[in-house]
Amino acid sequence: MTITDRTRKTIWAKSGNKCAICKTDLVKDKDMFNVRLIVGEECHIISKQAKGPRHIHKNGFDYNSDENLILLCCNDHKMIDEQVLEYPVEKIIEIKNEHEKWVLENLSNVNEVTTNKEESVFDNLISFVTAKYNKEMNIKSSEEKFNSSEGLKIAFLEVEKIKRIIYDTVERIHNNAPNYRITLRDNKKHITDILFKDKTLTVQFYEGFANQAKSSYLFLAFVDGYFREDGTVDPFYPVTLIELIRLDFTFNEKGEFGWRNQENSSEFFSSEEIIAIWLKKFFNLTLDE
Ligand SMILES: [Zn+2]
Repeated sequence: MTITDRTRKTIWAKSGNKCAICKTDLVKDKDMFNVRLIVGEECHIISKQAKGPRHIHKNGFDYNSDENLILLCCNDHKMIDEQVLEYPVEKIIEIKNEHEKWVLENLSNVNEVTTNKEESVFDNLISFVTAKYNKEMNIKSSEEKFNSSEGLKIAFLEVEKIKRIIYDTVERIHNNAPNYRITLRDNKKHITDILFKDKTLTVQFYEGFANQAKSSYLFLAFVDGYFREDGTVDPFYPVTLIELIRLDFTFNEKGEFGWRNQENSSEFFSSEEIIAIWLKKFFNLTLDE
């Protein structure tokens, strides 16, 4: 179970938007990009995880209830989780209670916070916080998929997609220009080679070890010349490498699966993008001759 919006609303309202320890604002004003910065973290007082900070096993206990959560800035969250001896459960509950009392006494009437104009500020805030968590969960699930055998299945679906795009593209060229002799030849590495005008675009997929997507990669290269049917080089007609790229199979910060350039990790491509770029390059190169 996750923290419900209702619980979130409660703990954020009771905290007065301040860290219970250092009293810093947990949502900073809009910055130059007009984005509110959220530095507040919803920390579990008793961790559900056996190895988590202050873990206590309690049957039927809702670890995500508002009574088990305290709002802190990221620094203080880190501090209490690292210094569990100095911050045991009782002490954190005391800090939380003291803080809520302090909010009631010092900040303008908290009850007003949930009315009219202020309500929309909180709704706004809740949607920010929820979006942030959903995004994290999405990445986590991509990460989980990636690190299991499911990741490899997803990689093979992408490989199939790439193959289909190549076949469709070549078929379209054949239909429009029947005298272009383009040959497709499946290679031993799951994808295919395109042979045209004494040049080859080889598209290969190397799957990772141990039934995981990890360390799986895509290899694309232009060569001058052809390989033999079995993929080896004919010593009498050696091929020359013109350009190559290797891309790791992975996922991006949005949780989408795709390919990241091994040489330049900031370059992330979907299967459609990377194959479109290389087909265009290949046909530009060959058709110019
Ligand atoms: Zn703090």
